[in-house]
Amino acid sequence: MHALYPGSFDPVTRGHLDLIGRAAGMFGKLTVAIGRNSRKGGVFSEDERIALLEAACARWENVTIGSFTGLIVDHALKIGADVLVRGLRNCSDFEFEATMAVTNRALKGVETVFLTADPRYAYTSSTLVKEIVTHGGDASAYVPEDVHRALRAKLLKEDPT
Ligand code: ADP
Repeated sequence: MHALYPGSFDPVTRGHLDLIGRAAGMFGKLTVAIGRNSRKGGVFSEDERIALLEAACARWENVTIGSFTGLIVDHALKIGADVLVRGLRNCSDFEFEATMAVTNRALKGVETVFLTADPRYAYTSSTLVKEIVTHGGDASAYVPEDVHRALRAKLLKEDPT
């Protein structure tokens, strides 16, 4: 089975990576795709997000990184993905995700598989990580080292080398 895991990944966190690793073990092929039409303003460009994801996912042979515009279900059909994968951290994720899943199935018959967040990352989000780094905190527990460096370079205008 080919699964498609869509998201903003601005930037990828250890929570996303935990989900990717688990999904990569469940499906023959996993495509991780960055949505280009997100209403959330991004800190990283699409190319930067892709580069960070590619580095973090290099260890999984069946994981491919991509991007999409428009409806995720259209992209799923275009690339031949059988199901969508999404993560659930809490009740507010569930409310949003259930609406999306029902709508995506109604639109094009595409099912969504949910994985519950690992307790270590149940409170991890890209937004939280950006907030911590913006205010000079250490967010390295929540993102890979190179992502942390890239965040500090962007948000604190530090030299990344
Ligand atoms: P979006 O803007 O589409 O919510 P995100 O990149 O924030 O994109 O999240 C993509 C998916 O990953 C969502 O299903 C979200 O619930 C899930 N997710 C985000 N952070 C975590 C985490 N720490 N653990 C498990 N799932 C997560």
